[in-house]
Amino acid sequence: MDLEHKAIARLQEAAKLSEFYYQKPLLLTYSGGKDSEVCLELCRRARVSFEVMHSLTTADAPETVYHVKNVFHQLELEGIKCEILHPRYKGKQTSMWALIPQKLMPPTRIARYCCQVLKEGSGKKRCMVLGVRRAESQNRSDAGVAELQGHTKANKIVFDFDNGDERIIVPCQMKAKIKIHPIIDWTERDVWDFLKDAKVEVNPCYAMGFHRVGCVGCPMADKLRWRQFQQWPKFENLYRHAFARMLEERKARGKPSQWKTADDVFRWWMDDKNLDGQLDIFGNEIGGTDDGA
Ligand code: SF4
Repeated sequence: MDLEHKAIARLQEAAKLSEFYYQKPLLLTYSGGKDSEVCLELCRRARVSFEVMHSLTTADAPETVYHVKNVFHQLELEGIKCEILHPRYKGKQTSMWALIPQKLMPPTRIARYCCQVLKEGSGKKRCMVLGVRRAESQNRSDAGVAELQGHTKANKIVFDFDNGDERIIVPCQMKAKIKIHPIIDWTERDVWDFLKDAKVEVNPCYAMGFHRVGCVGCPMADKLRWRQFQQWPKFENLYRHAFARMLEERKARGKPSQWKTADDVFRWWMDDKNLDGQLDIFGNEIGGTDDGA
């Protein structure tokens, strides 16, 4: 079976589970990126019943926000229910800029609290569809077609969905949040070939030369962040202001700080390594002042 038909078969099977156990259609999380674009087109081709949800991260590029709006407008014309989720933290509406002072540290590769709050809090008691692919990163290399999320990575359960793993029935009966990854085994090439063949209009950020379209300044984007801040300088200001408020908050709470100014935080965060005796977030000294770039 080719990749497209395999992905469609997964969606059709997942849709049956969703309707039978959850009495609801599949819920597709749409980020505005290429992988969720593929999943959206596959859901249409699979002719399954589905709804679409987008989590507003508040740090997405304006082009991404407009693209999502346009796609949702089209989907609503097709009669597909769409929802934009505004992030909440401790019962209140929040944003990346409010979260940083509250968390007392910038988001980093190992402390991605922003994803937990801004993106992952949705879809409780639903059978979700996500555009996760193993080839995307080392972190995702062990992801399965269907997963039951645990409190930690170690206690998540991966189901052998393609071979009818019956263990999935119990969490479905309990309406637990199940994640379905129909394009888990696709490469980046497969994704672009599919989108080209399907003539899907993708997020304009790709045509601007960005190979990923997550939040502007996402710590996972590494050096690409410099280009992002050149392209969207207002976001650099937003981070700097948030870092300044974070330092004030640390001071107010009597927390010692390795940074004196928002500029120090920004350089540490961008891994400039310009600070003498720089410490990581757990207080360990980072070796040397050489520029590892
Ligand atoms: S900045 Fe990166 S880690 Fe944080 S919410 Fe955005 S995508 Fe997730």
